[in-house]
Amino acid sequence: MQRADLATELDASALNELASGFLGQLVRPGDPAYDEHRAVWNGSVDRFPSLIARCIGVEDVRAALLLARRTGLQAAVRGGGHSFPGMSTCDDGLVIDLSPMKSVEIDPDAHTVRAGPGVLLGEIDAATQAAGLAVPAGIVTHTGVAGLTLGGGIGWLQRKYGLTIDQLLSVKLVTAGGELVRASEDENAELFWGVRGGGGNFGIVTEFQFRLNPLGPIVLAGPIVWATEDSPEVMRFYRDWITDVPDELTTIVVHRRAPVSTYMPQELHGTHVVMVGCCYAGPIEEGERALRPLREFGSPLIDLCTPKPFLAHQALFDPTYPHGRWYYLRSRDVAELSDDVIDIIVDDALRITSPHSGFPIFQLGGAIARVGEDETAFTGRMAGHTININGIAETAADFDDQREWVRRFSAALEPHQTGVYVNFLMDEGEERVKDAYGAAKYERLRALKRKYDPDNFFRLNQNISP
Ligand SMILES: Cc1cc2nc3c(=O)[nH]c(=O)nc-3n(C[C@H](O)[C@H](O)[C@H](O)COP(=O)(O)OP(=O)(O)OC[C@H]3O[C@@H](n4cnc5c(N)ncnc54)[C@H](O)[C@@H]3O)c2cc1C
Repeated sequence: MQRADLATELDASALNELASGFLGQLVRPGDPAYDEHRAVWNGSVDRFPSLIARCIGVEDVRAALLLARRTGLQAAVRGGGHSFPGMSTCDDGLVIDLSPMKSVEIDPDAHTVRAGPGVLLGEIDAATQAAGLAVPAGIVTHTGVAGLTLGGGIGWLQRKYGLTIDQLLSVKLVTAGGELVRASEDENAELFWGVRGGGGNFGIVTEFQFRLNPLGPIVLAGPIVWATEDSPEVMRFYRDWITDVPDELTTIVVHRRAPVSTYMPQELHGTHVVMVGCCYAGPIEEGERALRPLREFGSPLIDLCTPKPFLAHQALFDPTYPHGRWYYLRSRDVAELSDDVIDIIVDDALRITSPHSGFPIFQLGGAIARVGEDETAFTGRMAGHTININGIAETAADFDDQREWVRRFSAALEPHQTGVYVNFLMDEGEERVKDAYGAAKYERLRALKRKYDPDNFFRLNQNISP
C-alpha cells in the first residue's frame, strides 16, 4: 500500500544535500522498496514515514540526524525493528534505519566482539558460537542487538552471565548534536551508566563492544510439558525447586495452547499446556543432575529437553513470534510466585483462546542479582520473575479479544508488581516509564538527558523527559 499523498513534503534542498553524500539507500513513499522497509515486526503498527534513511556507516547516521535537526522532522531510530509498540517508525517523519550496519568482529584472543547496530541476535550468536563463545541476549533470533542491549537484555544465559549490558564494554554513539562519542567504564562513565538500561534516549549507538564467555556449543536445553490443569501443582513445585538450582540453569515457564509444530505430538495440538523451558549453560551431565527432580515431577506429557546446539535452542521461540502478526503486551515483574500469583496465572492460562497467545515467565536471579542495583540504569535486578503477557492475533479480526485478555490478566497481577522491564513496555505513558526505573534513577536519567539531549530530539522511545 502506498500513501505518498499523506507523507509530509520534504524540504527539497535539504533532501538533495543529504543525497549528495549519503552512501546507503534513501527510500521515499512511492519507491518500490518503500513498503518492505517501512514494515516493522509488530503487524498492528502501520506507519508511513516521509523518508527512510538506510545507513551503512557513521557518516550516514550523522547526516540523517542533521537533516532531521535542520528540517524539524521527527526522527525514529531503528535497529532490529522489534519495539513492541513500534517506536522505531513514525508517520511523516524520518526513520534512521541502522539495519544495514551488520558488522560482527570477534577478537578471539581478547574474548570480545564488536557489533554494528543492525545486527540481529541470531547473527551475533552464529558468529560467536563458531568460536564456542557467546554474549548473553534474548530468546528470539530475529530481535535486534541494539534495542535489546540498550534496555538491559534478558535471556537464556542470564543467570550464568547476567544481562546483555553486564557484558557490554563500550559503545560508540552519535549524540543529538551530531558528535561521535565513546562511552565505557572509564570514558564518559555517566553516559555509559545511562545507556545500560536507559534505551535510545541519549544518542544513536553505532557500535557495541561486548565481552565474550564460553558456551557449549552443545547445551542441555528444551521444554518439559504438562497439561495446564496440572499447573497449580507444577508451579508450586517449580517455585520451591528453583530456590536451589545452579546459576548455570535458566528457565522460562510458558503457558499457552500447544503449538502446531513438528516437535509437538499431534494429539496435543491446541490443548492448554504449561512448558518449563530450560537451558543449562554448563556440562551436560551436571545439567542432567540438576534437572532430574523437575523431569520426575508429576506426569509430563512430553520431555523435549535434550543436548542440542545452543543455536538451535535459541530458535525455539522463533515460530511463536513471526513478523507481521498483531501483538499486544503487558509485562510485570513479581518478587515471587506466591500462591495468589499462581492462582491468577492458572486462571488466565485456562482463558487463552488464541492458538498464538501465551505468557513467558522469566526466571531471574543468579548473575543478574550479583550486580548492584545502582551500577547500571537497568532496574529490577532483585525481582524474582518477569511475566510477559502476549496477546497475539493473525489479523485485526481477533485483536480486540486478545487485548482484552491481556488487560484483564495484567490488572489482576498489578497488586503483585514490583517493577517492569523497560523493553517490555508498550506506549504506556510517563508513569510506567517511571515504574521501570524508580524515582531516584529516573531523576539521574533526566539529568543525563538534559546534558546529552536537552531538546528531547530522541523522543520516540520509552522517553526520559528532560
Ligand atoms: C519477538 C520479541 C522477542 C523479544 N525477546 C526479548 C528477550 O528475550 N529479552 C529481552 O531483553 N528483550 C526481548 N524483547 C524486547 C526487545 O529487547 C525490545 O523490543 C528491543 O527494543 C528490540 O530491539 P530492536 O533493535 O529489535 O528494536 P527497534 O524497534 O529497532 O528499536 C527499539 C528502540 O530502541 C532504540 N534503538 C534501537 N537501535 C538503537 C541504536 N542503535 N541507538 C539508539 N537507540 C536505538 C530506539 O529508541 C527504538 O525505538 C523481545 C522483543 C520481541 C519483539
